[in-house]
Amino acid sequence: MKTIFISGANRGLGLQFAKQYVQQGDHVIACARDLSQAIALTQLAKRHKNIQLHQLDVTNEAQIINLTAHFKNEPIDILIHNAGVGGEQCETLTRMNQKSWLDVLAVNTVAPMLITQALLKNIMASKEKKVIGLTSILASISDNRSGGRYSYRASKAALNQSFRSLACELVDDGVTATVIHPGWVKTDMGGKEGKITAEQSVTGMIKVISDLKRINSGCFFTYDGTELPW
Ligand code: NDP
Repeated sequence: MKTIFISGANRGLGLQFAKQYVQQGDHVIACARDLSQAIALTQLAKRHKNIQLHQLDVTNEAQIINLTAHFKNEPIDILIHNAGVGGEQCETLTRMNQKSWLDVLAVNTVAPMLITQALLKNIMASKEKKVIGLTSILASISDNRSGGRYSYRASKAALNQSFRSLACELVDDGVTATVIHPGWVKTDMGGKEGKITAEQSVTGMIKVISDLKRINSGCFFTYDGTELPW
């Protein structure tokens, strides 16, 4: 049985990760920004013993620091940085401001690094030692021919770069740090036009995560296991 830590597990892909790992019999630490509003997650926890709920706003530095003491001595095999925000869909050069930029960077880029920092001992104490960042094809610089989505694209590109540094820094410790694009998924963020369901996306990502070898640390994959261009 592995221990899986998931941020933003109250809806969308995070909730689906929680459901599938719980179903597999793993021990899930499912986080949500506000547990009192996390109805589906709370119902899941009522039906299964192998899930533990934890309140975590990924932009709250005090809550992040507190993770170290709260989960002291608990090995975490797979740390999934799922929580994310999409920023303004119609963001353009004339339609952006400092706050909107920084809000997106705080959730999508800074939080995964600080949470990894806070839980590093837990990861090191585990067998799998895997850190996963939910990124996006929109982060790919070579693939960007349509522009727009400035802050979202930049936040995920910066996440990718940070994961490459993480992979380099922790290579001798046996940590595998990898970013995965979930596909275009029918969630609140992906919208109804999404090409695949959350179930299909997460089934694919769980297989990719399970198949990851240390040599895949610092790589950029899609949910079906294809490697993507930076
Ligand atoms: P949703 O918008 O459906 O869900 C986002 C999740 O992130 C929610 O649980 C939300 O919690 C949580 N979250 C946002 N801000 C915070 C915060 N400050 N603290 C804690 N939790 C927070 O998105 P998806 O499920 O579709 O996306 C999950 C990940 O996949 C994201 O990182 C996204 O960028 C990435 N992705 C998604 C794609 C898609 O097509 N859906 C495509 C490419 C990448 P709350 O309910 O409290 O807001």
